Amino acid sequence: MTSSKKPQILTALTSVLGDAVLQPGSTEYEKDNSSYFSAFENEVKPSFIAKPNNVEQVQGLVRALRPYVLSGDCELAIRSGGHNPIPGSANVQGGVTIDMRGLKGIKLSDDQSVVEIAAGEIWTPVYAELEKYGLTVAGARVGHIGVAGFLLGGGLSIFSSQKGFACDSVVEFQVVLASGEVVRANAEENADLWRSLRGGMNNFGIVTSFKMKTFKSGPIWGGLICYHPDVFEELFGLIDCVCCFPQEGGYYGDHDKDTHLIYRISYGFGQKAMTSVVYHTRGEENPPQLRDFTGVESTLGLRYRWIDEMCTMRTSTQLDFCEELSNFSNDGLRQFWASITLAHKGETGILEDIYDEWDRTLEKLKDAEGFTFALEFHFVTKSMLENSAKAGGNAMAIPPSDGPLIIVLINPAWSLPEDDDRIFKGIENLMALYRQWAINDYSSSLLHPYIFANYAYKEDDVFAGYGQESVSMLRETSKKYDPEGLFQRGTPGGFKLPKESLGSDSGLFV
Ligand SMILES: Cc1cc2nc3c(=O)[nH]c(=O)nc-3n(C[C@H](O)[C@H](O)[C@H](O)COP(=O)(O)OP(=O)(O)OC[C@H]3O[C@@H](n4cnc5c(N)ncnc54)[C@H](O)[C@@H]3O)c2cc1C
Repeated sequence: MTSSKKPQILTALTSVLGDAVLQPGSTEYEKDNSSYFSAFENEVKPSFIAKPNNVEQVQGLVRALRPYVLSGDCELAIRSGGHNPIPGSANVQGGVTIDMRGLKGIKLSDDQSVVEIAAGEIWTPVYAELEKYGLTVAGARVGHIGVAGFLLGGGLSIFSSQKGFACDSVVEFQVVLASGEVVRANAEENADLWRSLRGGMNNFGIVTSFKMKTFKSGPIWGGLICYHPDVFEELFGLIDCVCCFPQEGGYYGDHDKDTHLIYRISYGFGQKAMTSVVYHTRGEENPPQLRDFTGVESTLGLRYRWIDEMCTMRTSTQLDFCEELSNFSNDGLRQFWASITLAHKGETGILEDIYDEWDRTLEKLKDAEGFTFALEFHFVTKSMLENSAKAGGNAMAIPPSDGPLIIVLINPAWSLPEDDDRIFKGIENLMALYRQWAINDYSSSLLHPYIFANYAYKEDDVFAGYGQESVSMLRETSKKYDPEGLFQRGTPGGFKLPKESLGSDSGLFV
């Protein structure tokens, strides 16, 4: 922020928000700015944190700040749950961070088919409210993360095989545009903006609410299975089964649409552990398609021992399951993630190689104070992509024929800044190796261009993975709704549309 303009910017902010503007040095500012998921976001220090409580105040803020942003005197950030770990994604050094958490509200439509969720909500209260009516939505698997960033990045849900990406369930966004105008974007009205916001992140405006399709949800069967270390190697052989499991018409045909699985190998406190997080969303207890993971009547003829006291399989609700997973993460650590996407072509060797190299990286980094390290496999099933394609389109635009895909996620966490460089470098090297192998070392290239925005690394070119056609569509949307580039150059955090493709007539982009 240009220091000479600081007093004027403060006046502009207080004219809209009164005393809901936080400044460095105050207890409220320190508390607010220390509440991100990653220490790296906490370390970014905005000059002001603006805390609107309603849509009119968001409009007022955009109008009041717009001249300063367009003149280059001030940068903006938009923050909701604050769970994206990339520094500067939802915070801005020396600029104005608009903290959307004051916008609350979960309102079910009269016919109960749609719920409108304000941008400041997290998922736990959404599920709690909907479960009163026997309903739910395809939201996050973890309850305490923000609704807004999750949906704008696409979103993986336990219902994804049936419903597509979580953003595919959004039937309407309410958005404050760069002009300060508030608009609705749905299949009939501003349909280009609607489609672009489904996975297009913070590039087009400040979203103030999301209308999502609801559906009936009965009991769900699932939970966590933690395996005993002495069956670790054997269990790893199941990776083959993990790959086949999510295939449409694969091992178990259509029933696969009711299952959801995350496969996780983790290191912490000197121990390695292997965990499956499994769900059957129609509540069938220990269904055949999950038995390899539950260790009962394995189709491979194997029986795996799990650590009983750490096995939480039960029949419950999405609210309860998302609360369970909320307990497995801590805010404020030095932590980040990086991921690649693999096309599953029946080639399982790469997953074993990925594990072996993760293990070698672990050996190099594990002496860092407080080091924990996870390797996860998330599955984008063919039916997920088919259902996504049927839902009206989104920014990711992944052809269903590309599926199934496997998202490989790496997640380190540690305590001390002196270990930052070597850990970032270690993970960058690991990801570079993965990419190189996936392209060159198997019978055909297994690297898929899609990078899941919600698990992307700070250096990733997420939009390149969406494909040229989608980028052109997003560029047109940006030019139409934000011709001067308030949300491109004026809001630097998050993944931005590729500059070179924005054209020379697009104001701030040049
Ligand atoms: C413990 C944990 C569990 C997770 N589990 C899942 C999971 O199950 N599935 C999944 O898909 N992802 C998951 N994620 C990833 C998560 O979806 C992303 O981190 C997401 O960005 C979080 O949203 P947020 O609102 O908390 O983020 P923020 O950090 O507040 O925002 C993220 C990005 O969205 C932009 N943004 C936020 N609000 C708005 C708005 N109102 N208008 C415009 N732009 C906005 C910000 O500017 C920023 O660039 C998980 C993350 C964590 C930490």
